[in-house]
Parts: sequence; structure tokens; C-alpha cells
Amino acid sequence: MNSYCCDICDNGGFEILSSQKTLYPLWWKSGEKYEMLLQYVCCEKCGFVTLFPLMESDEYKRYYELSPTPSKESFDLRSSIFVDRRNFLDESLTLSDIESIVEIGPAYGNFLMLFDDIKIRAGIEPSQKYREYVKKENLPLTYYPYVLEDISSNVSHLLNSFSLVVASHVLEHVPSPKLFIEKMISLTKEDGYIYIEVPSLEGMSECEEPLFQNLFFGHLSQFSEYSLIQLGISLSLDLVSKKVENKGNYPVIRVLFQKVNRVKRNKCLFQNHLNHINSNMKSAVIKFKKIIKENDNIVIWGCGDDLYTVFAQVEQDNEIARKIKLVDLNKKKQGKVFYNKMKINSPNECMDDSVDVVIIPSRGKILQENIRHSVQTLNGECKIECLF
Ligand SMILES: [Zn+2]
Repeated sequence: MNSYCCDICDNGGFEILSSQKTLYPLWWKSGEKYEMLLQYVCCEKCGFVTLFPLMESDEYKRYYELSPTPSKESFDLRSSIFVDRRNFLDESLTLSDIESIVEIGPAYGNFLMLFDDIKIRAGIEPSQKYREYVKKENLPLTYYPYVLEDISSNVSHLLNSFSLVVASHVLEHVPSPKLFIEKMISLTKEDGYIYIEVPSLEGMSECEEPLFQNLFFGHLSQFSEYSLIQLGISLSLDLVSKKVENKGNYPVIRVLFQKVNRVKRNKCLFQNHLNHINSNMKSAVIKFKKIIKENDNIVIWGCGDDLYTVFAQVEQDNEIARKIKLVDLNKKKQGKVFYNKMKINSPNECMDDSVDVVIIPSRGKILQENIRHSVQTLNGECKIECLF
């Protein structure tokens, strides 16, 4: 991968933060090189810190295939980490609503085993050793032998099927975090949740001896809170909650996102908005008809689209034409014919003592106040009715 492109903002410019030679991870194999360049760069637009250049993907594959798997005991020793993770989720969502959970890279299943109450517990786990352990111990977990990147073509029934999709300390290892989160989204049900935990740049800057190694070729991305959240938002996820912490030299960012159907949600929001507008209009028309019925000498002040919409819903008869006069402060409107029938006058011509009531048809509150003030200046005793 020789050309740089920021995974978050697609920017092509970067600044080098650190550059040093390091031991090549497969140096001990015959025919392999001995050293490599470990260089961290920072996107000059959004600040995302990544390793660049990366090793080739087959080099990573060979490295992980040849790396020894950590023991079950080493995971058990860190049980408080799993409990803290569950506690964060407990505080952020209603776990009793979660029907199914899948973890990407669950290893021995320590975290999944904390969720007795969730019906379906699954893992996407490429390592045979972990899968065999779960089988041998008869754990109530279903493991799928894939890497997440291959999941859609292999196990299509898993798509859009989980209420909660979890990846802890995985995202910093993948070449494209954006593609990886897209894959997580593809496993998530509509309105389901995505939990991501990664080492925190904020936490590590304060932590002298973090529990995990933080500058090595395996950590392709160094996430700050902003970078991780920005990544989720750029993929149209909602941010539900987040926490940066440094408890016990374990500097992490925890983020919970929600997968939302933007089209459905915005259609619904717009429909609510439209319903309010229509209901206000209905009340305005009823009020308008009542005022016309109860008064003889009426001034309507303000000839704009709100009045046009009211007129459009009221049958225009001779009684209305006889009882009302239209006025507007805008001199350019004065003398013009409104709604094909009525002439617009200047307020000074119409605001005499015979006026029973002034109707203000505008929706805007500031405009209503301005007109109210002008009415009171011309005729302090006059009754005023706002339609909206
Ligand atoms: Zn960027």
C-alpha cells in the first residue's frame, strides 16, 4: 500500500510523527528480511494517526498465522476488563432488550459468557484454537470460522440479524477501519447497536505503562475519541454514548453507536412536522370563520402566503368580501389585488374607529408582534386576533 489516503476523510496529505527502523516480525524465518520501517503519520486534515506505509496484507496474514495464541489463563486474569466493558453497556442501553449479540474476535468467549440473559450469543472467530476450546467446554456460544471481511458472502443469514455487534481491540489492527465498521453494520439489525473499544490516544498519552503494547506494526491506527466518533458518524451511525478512561493502566475509548434507518427516521420526523402545520392551519381556518361570523367590519393585516393558504381553504363568498378589508405595510403591495379579488390598502386608510377587529394571519411570532404594535399605534382600543 504505497499511496496515502486518510480512511476517515479521504485526504491525501499527511505529516510524519515518528519514523524508526524496527525488527521485521518474521525475521526469524529463513528468506525473510530483518528490518522494517515503523512510521506513524497524521492526516493533515482530520488528524487521524495511522501507520504508513503498511505491511502487505499477506505479511500480516502470515504473521498472525504464526503468532502463538494467548492462554485462557491470561484472559481470565483480566476478568475485570470484561466486567467494566459490560458495565459500560449496562449504563448505555437496556440490555434486557438485546436478543442477540455477536462479537468479532471473541477468543475464549470471556466477554460473551457475561451475558447469560441474551438468547443468542455468537462469535466471528478465525482462530481454530479458540473455536476448539468453546466446543470442548460445551459453551453456549456459536462460533463462525471466518474473518469479518469474508462474512457476507459466506454466511448471508447473519446479515442484519444481531441486536448488538461488538469489536474490542480489533479495529486498531485492521487496514481500513471504515470497511471494517461497514461490515459490522451489515451484521446489525435496524436500530441495533455497535460497540467498539480501542486503545485511546488520550489515555496512552497520560499512561506511562499501559497494559498493552501501543507502538508496533500490529496497531495500524491510533484512535483519538474524535477519530473514532467521526468514523462512525461518517458511516451514518448515531452516537449513543462514549467514555475515555485510564483505569488500571488500561487506556481505552468505549463507543456505542446505533444503526438507524435515516430515510425512515427523517420521513417520520417530516410527517410529524407536517401534521403540526396542518393541524395549526385547521385551527386557524376555524378561528377565521368564527371571527367573520361574529364581526362586521374586519381588517386583515398582512397579505402573504399564510393568508393565501387560509383563503384557499375558505369558500370565498360575497359576505366575506363585504366584511373585510386587506391591509399591508409594504407599500409595493398596496393597490395590488390579492387572491384575484380584493385590493390591498394602506393601514392608514382603513384603521378608523369603525373597525371591530384586526386579524393577523401570519405564523411568524416576530411579525405578529410588529403588526400588533402598529395596530395599537393607529387604534389603541382595537381588538386583535392572531390566526396562528
Ligand atoms: Zn483525515
